[in-house]
Amino acid sequence: MAAMKKGTVVSRPAYRRLRGYAFDPSLSVQLDTAVVNETIYKVMWEGQSNDGDEDLKPGPVGEYLEVVDYDPASACFYEPIDLNAPIILAQDGLPPSEGNPQFHQQMVYAVIMITICNFERALGRPVLWAPHDTGNGTRRYEFVRRLRIYPHALREANAYYSPEKKALLFGYFPASSERPDRYLPGGIVFTCLSHDIIAHETTHALLDGMHSRFIEASNPDALAFHEAFADIVALFQHFSSPDVLQHQIARTRGDLASHNLLGELAQEFGEAIGNYGALRSAIGEHDPKTGQWQPHRPDPEEYQTLTEPHARGAILVAAVFDAFLAIYRSRVADLLRIASSGTGVLPEGALHPDLVNRLADEAAKSAQHVLNLCIRALDYCPPVDIGFGDYLRAIITADVDLIPEDTRGYRIAFIEAFRRRGIYPLDVRTLSVESLRWPLVDQSQDFFQPLAQRLRDVAGQFAYFESRQRVYEETEKIGAELHEWIEREGHTLLQEFSKVAGITFGLGLDGLREDAQGSKVPRFQIHSLRPARRIGPDSNSLNQLIISIIQSRDVAVTPQPRRNELNMVFRGGCTLILDLDTMQLRYAIKKDIADQARLERQRQYRLGLMTDGSPRATYFKQLKNTEEPFALLHRNFDFGRP
Ligand SMILES: [Zn+2]
Repeated sequence: MAAMKKGTVVSRPAYRRLRGYAFDPSLSVQLDTAVVNETIYKVMWEGQSNDGDEDLKPGPVGEYLEVVDYDPASACFYEPIDLNAPIILAQDGLPPSEGNPQFHQQMVYAVIMITICNFERALGRPVLWAPHDTGNGTRRYEFVRRLRIYPHALREANAYYSPEKKALLFGYFPASSERPDRYLPGGIVFTCLSHDIIAHETTHALLDGMHSRFIEASNPDALAFHEAFADIVALFQHFSSPDVLQHQIARTRGDLASHNLLGELAQEFGEAIGNYGALRSAIGEHDPKTGQWQPHRPDPEEYQTLTEPHARGAILVAAVFDAFLAIYRSRVADLLRIASSGTGVLPEGALHPDLVNRLADEAAKSAQHVLNLCIRALDYCPPVDIGFGDYLRAIITADVDLIPEDTRGYRIAFIEAFRRRGIYPLDVRTLSVESLRWPLVDQSQDFFQPLAQRLRDVAGQFAYFESRQRVYEETEKIGAELHEWIEREGHTLLQEFSKVAGITFGLGLDGLREDAQGSKVPRFQIHSLRPARRIGPDSNSLNQLIISIIQSRDVAVTPQPRRNELNMVFRGGCTLILDLDTMQLRYAIKKDIADQARLERQRQYRLGLMTDGSPRATYFKQLKNTEEPFALLHRNFDFGRP
């Protein structure tokens, strides 16, 4: 018999199990939902392993986050929770409690880590927060390792992501007295205890980390997209708790288009500010007068008329949820036929628990698929001036790229759902998969051949970098090399390339920012570099590098400058998707810097009026001066609504 080893090597646990609210505390005091509202979040394990990783510190402070529990209103620090303390580890964290600040810290940590994990799984790489802009020339941007989380930052009905502070700030406030049937008037509502609010704010930060120009409102869809995407992630994360799913499937008899918790957002917050029911819903709403719930009817008019970011965002959320419902229905059609002896009409009464389990399983798979696809599509978006139509094209291309055959008709489900709401890309003639997919770049163009080896080397190492900081630094380094190479080799190659990429290397365009003296090409920025390795369901793999380049022009809002004219920045650029195996450029997803029609649209949008009648250009001026775009957005448009 072989000698036994003295010390046993134990591999690190896959997860840290943490208790929390599946939704928010309000559902724990309702008889119907109390049983499923306490859930266990299985969070990626940080620290305490044999391979020398840093331990998760009290706070919690880990690789991605730092929870700082300072309450400025009462000038007090709450003692940070130590999730590694044996007494806490042994019982899956603290039990859910509204009155215990340490539990609040645990709850924000758990939900943020779950959200990060969903992004990393979909994208196939570690996530990075938006770098800090130091404002000084050469080493202008600095790596931000941890997002700061303040669970008790404000005494108001608001919560927001601060791009400036690289932080999430959660507020708390006394509940409105308008619903004494549901809330103790004056009882305190903590936004840091709502799964939906935490996931929504985290998503704003993650989206900003990938696409920092999406905060700029260059068209009516841009800010609406930020809001909609944050809601989409929060919604589809509801489907990860099997208990909640089974409970809601049993209650709705498998019909997820009927009123149910999974399609609603921020129950407690909505009611605490005086709404009937949730803050927002993907499937229906309560009549403000009668309180009666009714399903949404898709109305293509809305996309033409609604401009307020949350109302407009709700159209996109509803479209994506509708696509999910179609996918779910197609996956369960056979189960329903079996259960109904072929009629498709289920018998009266409660569903058999086995059927509930199978339906829940299909709902979970459909939701995970839609969530993955929605996140992955971010890699296929242009780096500036995002519209809903672009996002549809990104979704279709991301799906075709990884799953060549659409045997279940998922892509049609998305196209149908967007069409019903009147969301069309401006630049396609028909709504088919072929025309919506971004066009493939002519394969004979070998723009990146000279850099092939260098790009491959770096991308190949990504999986092995020991830290996110290394990932950030290496991408910065190769971005600088790429920039330098484009400038140096200029003239010959670039003429063709700039056409493909929608940027210009000539100096003819008005307002184009020029680079330092001596440079022969106008200024351009390598905005980001992101490696993506993905394995599809047929074991086909993608090995890509995503490069985005941005250029800017300073132009007047009106075509003929007047006195006291307002200026605006008009940006263009592209997202290049490079196949690292062949070194061919596959897609160049562009917003052309020289596109006069797009410039005119942006001007018209700036000159348009806000819902309160003030010119939009004034609003932008105000937005520029405030440091917290999301605080303003949330306060004005949803969280502050009476
Ligand atoms: Zn938001």
